[in-house]
Amino acid sequence: MTLDTLCVQGGWQPKKGEPRQVPIYSSTTFKYETSEQMADLFDLKAPGYFYTRLANPTNDQVAKKIAALEGGVAAILTSSGQAASTFAVLNLCQAGDHVVSSAQIYGGTFNLFAVSLKKLGIDFTFVDPDASPKEIAAAFRPNTKCVFGETVANPSGNVLDIAKFAKVAHAHGVPLIVDNTFPTPILCRPFRFGADIVTHATTKYMDGHSSQVGGCIVDSGNFDWSKYPDRFAGLVAPDESYHGLSYVKAFGKQAYIVKATAHLMRDFGSIPSPFNAFLLNLGLESLHVRIRRHAESALTVAKWLRKQPKVAWVNFAGLADSPYHKLVKKQFDGPSPCGVMTFGIKGGRAKSIKFMDALKVIGIVTHVADAWSCVLHPASHTHRQLTDKQLREAGIPPDLIRLSIGLEDPQDLIADLKQALAKV
Ligand SMILES: *Cc1c(COP(=O)(O)O)cnc(C)c1O
Repeated sequence: MTLDTLCVQGGWQPKKGEPRQVPIYSSTTFKYETSEQMADLFDLKAPGYFYTRLANPTNDQVAKKIAALEGGVAAILTSSGQAASTFAVLNLCQAGDHVVSSAQIYGGTFNLFAVSLKKLGIDFTFVDPDASPKEIAAAFRPNTKCVFGETVANPSGNVLDIAKFAKVAHAHGVPLIVDNTFPTPILCRPFRFGADIVTHATTKYMDGHSSQVGGCIVDSGNFDWSKYPDRFAGLVAPDESYHGLSYVKAFGKQAYIVKATAHLMRDFGSIPSPFNAFLLNLGLESLHVRIRRHAESALTVAKWLRKQPKVAWVNFAGLADSPYHKLVKKQFDGPSPCGVMTFGIKGGRAKSIKFMDALKVIGIVTHVADAWSCVLHPASHTHRQLTDKQLREAGIPPDLIRLSIGLEDPQDLIADLKQALAKV
């Protein structure tokens, strides 16, 4: 099946007389007939559900669809994109370990790594995504356990050269984890370029209607953990909390996702509600139609914006003269990599605010990548504690506006931008 068909029919496969839409198993627990049946589930000897904090059939059907879309062997849904990033790293790292990460990642992920996981004893080295393989290799240490990057960085728009990062990671015997939230598997499939694990904030385009927060981790099954039994002891060596079971021995290519479920979900419990998974699945059924329209409309708007004399600059990797143009052609199956761009208004911070306040169709919200077009001004919102000098140092010019192009008629959006520019 092609990606378009998988969006609709991947995952839940109803049989005779079963509901066509994935059922919402709103149940904390599942019934068994003998004590031994349940004991086998606790020992991971038999497949099945026993408590929704670990796994739930609705969630699993939707995870299966996302695994199929990414071309992976297994996936797990989490209650947020943040939980997906946390679990993806904690499934491989513990106190004393080290991670190499692209410096251009979602602000929430940056804080998770640089502050929260660091407090737990995991160290991070941040590298420029545009750095040479040699410069990236210099960041590795003997205790490095994985590499992390974002296909299209939110909000900077930098495009990750996945093959470049995968090659350096594999040369050091560690997997590459890629946050593929912005392009979704419809526009980019990171496993094709050597990524080993993909994460998503399904909150964004996958849900697509700003109706619920969620995340997902997909494993390609390509990384051979057993080649490095000491480095990935958590996956290869016997797990004492599961009676000496080795995830790799017992579950082969599913080992990483089984460990995330049986260990991290059991202990940390960031499971999404089955109702949220149901909503996510409704979003996925039209993802292929929506994301291409987002990408097309964004390109139309970006081309128009940069012709406007009051617009100082436009940063969108879909534009033909973007420094990422060649990479975009190689890595993405669409007119542009996503529907999100950044730009600045001549005159700086005050003019950008005036412009945003004049918008009527495009809303001011702390969100991106959904059906309604929206803007955010990091200098006044997400990064408002920083001075103009500090903002520039963080790579966020004070005039920067993040614009997320929704599914409205792009001509209506252009008309709105035009009337707001006229008021500046
Ligand atoms: C929003 C976002 C996240 C975090 O997802 P939440 O669901 O808000 O926790 C992670 N990565 C990227 C690229 C995002 O845009």
